[in-house]
Amino acid sequence: MTDDLMTSHVVMDIRIHAVTMKEALAWAEKRILEGKPSLIATANAEMIMMAQEDKELFRILNTADLVVPDGAGVLWAGDKLGTPFPERVTGADLTTELLKRASEMKWPVYFLGGAPGVAAKAARKFMEDHGSFSLVGCHDGYFDEEEEKRIIEDIKKSGAKLLFAGLGVPKQEKWLDSHKEELGVLAMGIGGVFDVMSGNLKRAPLWMQRNRLEWAYRLYLQPSRIGRMMALPRFMQAVKKWKKQRGSKTC
Ligand code: UDP
Repeated sequence: MTDDLMTSHVVMDIRIHAVTMKEALAWAEKRILEGKPSLIATANAEMIMMAQEDKELFRILNTADLVVPDGAGVLWAGDKLGTPFPERVTGADLTTELLKRASEMKWPVYFLGGAPGVAAKAARKFMEDHGSFSLVGCHDGYFDEEEEKRIIEDIKKSGAKLLFAGLGVPKQEKWLDSHKEELGVLAMGIGGVFDVMSGNLKRAPLWMQRNRLEWAYRLYLQPSRIGRMMALPRFMQAVKKWKKQRGSKTC
């Protein structure tokens, strides 16, 4: 699969790749072996709604090297628009699979983001469950401009090939987009995945994940996210409207 042949679908003017986990992994491996700095984004309803207002995020998503269909809402939209995605590729699962691959291939990995200590704990937990990988650096996600310069130097010196950034959306996408070239890494924005990997935040049971109900479990654990969760029904309404408008434009 070359980059040009990678199929993508458009949801609310955002291009999302119609890839399976296997294809996403094969693509990532090729990129790392070629040493091409790249950005992976994980599209969900909230991010797509945010990108309708945030021009920079909109541009970044439409130029990112790989945008995987992460959220249940994106899968729903694909079906609704008549361009179904083959499967859900969540940021959490893709992180796990990439780290397993990093372990086999001995790719150096850097973790950036989360509250102090969380990324290191996430790495420790992962290694306990899946075996070790080469973690060449780690930094929390709360830094000022001075500290940021040190982090950039640290990542460059570390020789990392894979950078996972959990700084929240859209901070992580903007940060990675502006620094990926100088860092020379395959970078991926992973939101709160370090919190889940570290065990600080539980992931939904498998049956809920399979039934596209992960959002409900997250709401149960963090009721304060209700405002953010409203992005999903707003997104569903917006997709229906967008479908109609797009339909009338092409007639
Ligand atoms: N975070 C961070 N720096 C910031 C803001 C947030 O490292 O300046 C971290 C935060 O600690 C959490 C993650 O980013 O681990 C964002 O989590 P959230 O659940 O909001 O992510 P998303 O919904 O985007 O996946």
